[in-house]
Amino acid sequence: MNRAEDAFRADIVEIGRRMYARAYVASNDGNISIRLDDATILTTPKSVSKGFMTPDMMVVVDLDGKKIRGTRDASSELLMHLEVYKNRPDVRAVVHAHPPTATGFAVAGIPLDRAVLAEVVTTLGSIPIAEYGTPSTPELPAAVRKYIKAHDGLLLANHGALTIGPDVYAAYYKMETIEHFAKISLVTRQLGRENLLSREEVHRLQELRGNYGIKAPAPICADGSQPASGVDQASCQIIEAPASRGARLIPTDPADFHPHVAAALGAPALDGEIRLSYRELTALIEDAVKALLGGQHG
Ligand SMILES: [Zn+2]
Repeated sequence: MNRAEDAFRADIVEIGRRMYARAYVASNDGNISIRLDDATILTTPKSVSKGFMTPDMMVVVDLDGKKIRGTRDASSELLMHLEVYKNRPDVRAVVHAHPPTATGFAVAGIPLDRAVLAEVVTTLGSIPIAEYGTPSTPELPAAVRKYIKAHDGLLLANHGALTIGPDVYAAYYKMETIEHFAKISLVTRQLGRENLLSREEVHRLQELRGNYGIKAPAPICADGSQPASGVDQASCQIIEAPASRGARLIPTDPADFHPHVAAALGAPALDGEIRLSYRELTALIEDAVKALLGGQHG
């Protein structure tokens, strides 16, 4: 064991304490890993509370998950970490936890992908939900694989969250950002209204990434729409932001919000969809009924 590995073991102990202290994990949940070199990963042991680990408990595995060193066994969720390392050569650490508010969004099936906070748009972009997979089976790595090339943070449906980074602190801070963002989003929706950043502002923020040296894994999808179906890996970040004519903030009722809200806000509709007021809709229906009745009797 070299000095660098010693330091990494101590880092994992520290991050485990922070995760436990913030209640991002209960019981023996969660796992943390660090890439030691091209072929080996240092990771947390199974069946231990992440708040009470010691450096000697860590396990060294190869990229297939085979144990190289350690008296304990690696977490059963290690497969998910290995999938990240195989798909993202730039990533040196992975953090997985079950922070309650973010996990609530993952259970509700609501991704954290609305343009609400400038710093989240600039750093993480969007936080999509990877489809549900049974923990410890290859289903979960397959679900993670779909999003991991374009995102540094994911929600895992009915499970928790996963964050990655160039070092374990960076990966962990993204977990804090996701949980913080989830709490703010929850409060906003309880208050019944969200002022969203406009698409124009989102693109302005994206340009700032370069100025601040933020290395985002993928650009924000141009019009906020889904990538073509049949694509097995996401290549851009979907962010829900309404189009506008020069406005930076757009008040919107969450119940009304839809990617195509652009039409209702007066911007040219991209796909021909239009929004009508209740009165306009009623008038249209009345006209249609009159025409229909007229047709039947005439
Ligand atoms: Zn888990």
